[in-house]
Amino acid sequence: MQLPTQVTIHEVCPRDGFQPEQAWIPTATKIEIIDALSQTGVTEIQATSFVHPRAIPQLRDAEDVLAGIAKQPGISYDALVPNPRGAERAAATDIDVWHLMLSASEAHNRENGNRAIAETLAGFPAVVELAAEHGAEVHGGLAVAFGCPYEGEVPLEQLAWVVGEYVALGIEHVSLGDTTGMANPAQIYETMMRLQERFPGIGWTLHLHDTRGMALANVVAGLQAGIDHYDSATGGLGGCPYAPGATGNVATEDLVHMLHLMGIETGVDLDAVIAIARRLQAVVGHPLESRILKAGKTSDLAEIAAA
Ligand code: ZN
Repeated sequence: MQLPTQVTIHEVCPRDGFQPEQAWIPTATKIEIIDALSQTGVTEIQATSFVHPRAIPQLRDAEDVLAGIAKQPGISYDALVPNPRGAERAAATDIDVWHLMLSASEAHNRENGNRAIAETLAGFPAVVELAAEHGAEVHGGLAVAFGCPYEGEVPLEQLAWVVGEYVALGIEHVSLGDTTGMANPAQIYETMMRLQERFPGIGWTLHLHDTRGMALANVVAGLQAGIDHYDSATGGLGGCPYAPGATGNVATEDLVHMLHLMGIETGVDLDAVIAIARRLQAVVGHPLESRILKAGKTSDLAEIAAA
């Protein structure tokens, strides 16, 4: 089976990673982490979210974070834009990509955004127009694309419907989130093969949480289906405040470590990511889920054995 030889990592620690953290992370620390991530070779960073400050207090400093970071050439910085109010805030910044957000299930969309999917969608044409006026690209994000904690299975037809709504808005890149870690590799492969067939020309990103230990296996299934864009969070931080029991994103260091061992290029400096994960452990003040942080790289073992 021919796997992609190169994968793009979309680093989401500053948004998905930080948002569930209860203790306040100072704005200066967020800026320091994003600036460090900008030196790892990663080319896409989700820096923050324009969600309502009351919903996610941890990210209420979105504007200050974006004003403080040293944007690097060759890196695309994006932020979550969940609604028209968030879009007005995004328009006042120089963020490169507006990442829209919607749930694939009605129950999760209601829990997350307090409205029906169709109501959220109704606000998007104005958002897309505003982004175009500001020269920003728009990507479409879908939460609970592979299973909903409230509704269970999300039928492929339902998923294809919401993807189709994004495509109808002129959006060319769609990110599918396994928000609560319900996807299995067979499902990822089957779903991605069918969606690519149905929506040719769309770029896809998989956003996989490791809630039930299936995230890296799901990445391999995605690779087998030809998907070459993956979200991950350094340190494996993350979760969804509206998804019971949700745990972290797949850790960037675990993902990059695996891909490099498989001969797949990422352009990411693994040691630099591990150093940031260590720093993050001190920042959040609790142990991280990252396997590489706990066990080290396989090449470290080889060095020990050779010594
Ligand atoms: Zn997530």
